Amino acid sequence: MSEGKIIKALSGFYYVLEGENIIRCRGRGVFRKKNVTPLVGDYVVFQSENETEGYIMEIKPRKNELIRPPIANIDQAILVFSAARPDFSPLLLDRFLSVIEANDITPVICITKMDLLSEEEKKKIGWYIDGYQSIGYEVFQLSTKTGDGLKQLFPFIDGKISVLAGQSGVGKSSLLNSLHPQLDIKTADISDHLGRGKHTTRHVELLQIGGGLVADTPGFSSLEFPEMEAEDLPFTFPEIEQYGENCKFRGCLHINEPGCAVKQAVESGEIRQYRYDHYQDFYQEIKNRKPRY
Ligand code: GDP
Ligand code: ZN
Repeated sequence: MSEGKIIKALSGFYYVLEGENIIRCRGRGVFRKKNVTPLVGDYVVFQSENETEGYIMEIKPRKNELIRPPIANIDQAILVFSAARPDFSPLLLDRFLSVIEANDITPVICITKMDLLSEEEKKKIGWYIDGYQSIGYEVFQLSTKTGDGLKQLFPFIDGKISVLAGQSGVGKSSLLNSLHPQLDIKTADISDHLGRGKHTTRHVELLQIGGGLVADTPGFSSLEFPEMEAEDLPFTFPEIEQYGENCKFRGCLHINEPGCAVKQAVESGEIRQYRYDHYQDFYQEIKNRKPRY
């Protein structure tokens, strides 16, 4: 028996990466009985028939599972935001960060199109970058046009399963193409010109990039907080979680409670006001959410 990771699922076959080899496997009936389907990203035990073919015998427990695209065991989300065109949006970034944290996936922030900024504009965005770094996030600044900043990203992909996330037009396809030049995904210009969407019925596949695996299809297109309770929100803002340990009341939600260390930290400038404002917005949104049944 051998072990490996499913990197592609197509027409009833699962392509399992074991070291440098890819074994084309079929699933045994066991999954259907247990009502689990192997997913790309699954860590599996397989029985080889010969050097290139085999059978999946067992799926190891998943640490997480994304629905769109269907991938298991994601280690990190590379959150792609453009410095301009579209403009950098701290509100949208905080929303992505919070939703991704709520899914127990580590976010890494990647700011693209840095080549479009003047020195003055770089300073302005630098203020935000400093803030995100100071609360523990990894931030990369790059340009797929000039190639600046790309190579710093590679070590962070090694040994992990990553998925790219971010709104349309920020440069996700361009970044994937830069990381994996053989890929040749159509970027916005070309696909608009041809008049067809770029993410048509493609199957998700994990691309081997350096020593890591990156999904060829972006994730987190829906940014709702569906499964989440307002009580969970503080844990999706690292600095709020940290200061919240000193609040007077256990389970303080940092809204109106007396002796709130988070509100004090906002007043003293240790927590940035705009981050706290976003926290409050998301809190209200979750509280006011209509039940789905
Ligand atoms: P996606 O929708 O996130 O996949 O974005 P695309 O990769 O399709 O890129 C959208 C547009 O931004 C295209 O016209 C790209 O050529 C352009 N673009 C992507 N990255 C950069 C960059 O680093 N610098 C500049 N100037 N343009 C970029
Ligand atoms: Zn509090």
